[in-house]
Amino acid sequence: MDSFTERCERPFDVIVVGTGPGGASTARELARAGAHVLILEQGSAAPLAGTLGQMATMALPGRGTWLHRDASLLVSGTVLGGSSALNFATAAPPPAAMFAAHGIDLAPFLAALRAELPLAPLPDNLVGPMAARIMLAARAAGFNWQKLDKMIRPQACRSGCWRCVYGCPFGAKWSARDFVIDACRHGAVLLDRSRVRRVLVEDGRAAGVEYRRAGALHTVRAPTVVLAGGGIGSPRLLHASGLGPRHAPFFSDPVVAVMGSVDDIDGGAEVPMAAGVSFPEEGIALADLTLPAPMYAAFALQAGRVDRVGAHRRTLSLMVKIRDDIGGAVGPRWVDKRLTTGDRARLEQGIGMARRILAQAGARQVFATHHFAAHPGGSIPIGGNAGEGVDSDLRAAPGLYVCDASVIPQPWGLPPTLTLLCLGKRLGAMLAGAAIGGSSVSSEAVSR
Ligand SMILES: Cc1cc2nc3c(=O)[nH]c(=O)nc-3n(C[C@H](O)[C@H](O)[C@H](O)COP(=O)(O)OP(=O)(O)OC[C@H]3O[C@@H](n4cnc5c(N)ncnc54)[C@H](O)[C@@H]3O)c2cc1C
Repeated sequence: MDSFTERCERPFDVIVVGTGPGGASTARELARAGAHVLILEQGSAAPLAGTLGQMATMALPGRGTWLHRDASLLVSGTVLGGSSALNFATAAPPPAAMFAAHGIDLAPFLAALRAELPLAPLPDNLVGPMAARIMLAARAAGFNWQKLDKMIRPQACRSGCWRCVYGCPFGAKWSARDFVIDACRHGAVLLDRSRVRRVLVEDGRAAGVEYRRAGALHTVRAPTVVLAGGGIGSPRLLHASGLGPRHAPFFSDPVVAVMGSVDDIDGGAEVPMAAGVSFPEEGIALADLTLPAPMYAAFALQAGRVDRVGAHRRTLSLMVKIRDDIGGAVGPRWVDKRLTTGDRARLEQGIGMARRILAQAGARQVFATHHFAAHPGGSIPIGGNAGEGVDSDLRAAPGLYVCDASVIPQPWGLPPTLTLLCLGKRLGAMLAGAAIGGSSVSSEAVSR
């Protein structure tokens, strides 16, 4: 037994690795049902300050962001709450048919989450002038452009603010931190800045993990381990533990921003993705995407539009997001993925739609950025081949489960957060009885 386990009053029932939506939801469900849960997160639990400097510590290349060989970026957050700490807070319900094909019904978990989460379109006073202008233009151009559900508490949110993507310091944006805090309120123990290196496997089943904290290597034991390190972190951990392949293909939902300037708006500080439209058959979604000035400037520079760098306050920006083919690989130390011919065709189609909307809005000097992505997943899919996926209970090996974007079974193209919260709530409920020594946990207790 290691020194940390000795200091704890009772042994852990479950170790959860990673605090994004999947891990936080699982940990919270288990803790609320009475299990003793240890949560290990490699990022920091420092309060969110909403500054560019802090965001850089969570998501710069080397921290959470990856540069592919085609010079595109894959962005994720290494911080308490995972990418949800810096995401755009847009919610989409899980695609029921995709999960039903694996015998998984997320409807009861979605209903329970809907009852407790802030989940609604923004009130008009929080829809910024750029999103409103884009909405008008999109509708005039014939698109069924509607407000999107946001995981934002309107009473704490403010207009003229750009901090969603830096990490909301006002408690307005829901993030997985909220569920971790609740798990800790119910007795879970959180260790941040603790990087798990591998799962301990004994007699073919998970027995704990090895992790590094403050320069020292530790082990901690528990009969159940849940990997929730995200679409990149979890396949790496499986491989490092001798339980998964060296290279795991994945999806990432690539995005291009299409931008154009108008003369009669002075803005640039508003909640992104207030409204949009999606074409599920085609695998294309569009939304407004007003980013903070430094991020806008970086995109303009990357697109070679030095002339547009100073035009942030007058530039309307649309997101074109596609459902990409699964491919590329998460390797032990690198991540790489290129667009397929089909991906390029989808992006071109979406860019054409965005250009029509910007033309309708009266925007000029329109340009499209290089693509980037922020939804790595599908790297340990439900129903995947042995050793390369999980079963419908999210089990990768005896005593070892995976619950994050890795397990999404097919190409995606949706905001994943709400689906991952549902999967975590379901896994937590399934594990709760066994985790606390087989004692029965009422369904009321696990579905709160
Ligand atoms: C800029 C941006 C905008 C986005 N906008 C939206 C949006 O509007 N709506 C939406 O639904 N989604 C959005 N997303 C995507 C969404 O946030 C992610 O898909 C989601 O957070 C993935 O959740 P996850 O459970 O897979 O874990 P992640 O959020 O990926 O978190 C995994 C956590 O595990 C930790 N970890 C990894 N490996 C280890 C290890 N070895 N040891 C310890 N800890 C480890 C990481 O530090 C991280 O905190 C956005 C993402 C970004 C980056």
